[in-house]
Amino acid sequence: MSNAEPIITVTGAGKFFGKLKALDNVSLTVRPGEKVVIIGPSGSGKSTLLRAINRLEEIDAGRIVVDGHNLSDAAVDINRVRMDVGMVFQSFNLFPHYTVLDNVTLAPVKLRGVPQEEARAKALALLDKVGIKEKAGVYPAMLSGGQQQRVAIARALAMNPKIMLFDEPTSALDPEMIGEVLAVMLDLAREGMTMVVVTHEMGFARQAADRIVFMDHGRIIDEGPPEEFFESAKHPRAQKFLEQIL
Ligand code: ADP
Ligand code: MG
Repeated sequence: MSNAEPIITVTGAGKFFGKLKALDNVSLTVRPGEKVVIIGPSGSGKSTLLRAINRLEEIDAGRIVVDGHNLSDAAVDINRVRMDVGMVFQSFNLFPHYTVLDNVTLAPVKLRGVPQEEARAKALALLDKVGIKEKAGVYPAMLSGGQQQRVAIARALAMNPKIMLFDEPTSALDPEMIGEVLAVMLDLAREGMTMVVVTHEMGFARQAADRIVFMDHGRIIDEGPPEEFFESAKHPRAQKFLEQIL
């Protein structure tokens, strides 16, 4: 695993919003099967970095290569790349006018050309996996936040992604629902999914992460395996951040 070629390579990425430097010379590699947890204060560039990996933000400097595709290359078929990169956001973004089942089958049928019946069978299996199969026929509004987020994860997995990106997937949830979503993510991690996760859930980070990346002011200022990182964050700002949230 650790010797494999990186599936994500970010090299010297820079991104301005007007005069604000949201990403400042960020470099990060993720190998197949690796789980990287990104932490850091609000506004430090975590979402921008995650979104750049899917080219939801275009970088102004540096390069990002995902599964062999240079995202800045004019010839890159970004929709093709995105099909292999599942993304789960803080706000679940389910399609409100589709049932849970249809939310999960829509992209595989439309984008991958999977036959409806096959997509349906796979969707039910995924809904079962995230513990919510009995809700297949209902509309998202009928579900709790935790349930909606589990559907969002199933929907992303239905595309058979090579990489899953999570941007604070539990931040919008009531406390009693956080655990059920983290449990699904932990399962996924144990199955070997390549994951980049922005989260404040340090228990999850300890359990799932191969590497913790700490961002501040658009830069990665500390990085290491969780044991090492939590015991002795090298950078004073990372130490301070940990003191505040742990
Ligand atoms: P984080 O996810 O770590 O909280 P973000 O990546 O969302 O941080 O934001 C980094 C910085 O860029 C913040 O100062 C934020 O206000 C700014 N920013 C993010 N997106 C935009 C945007 N679309 N337009 C202007 N500024 C933005
Ligand atoms: Mg964010």
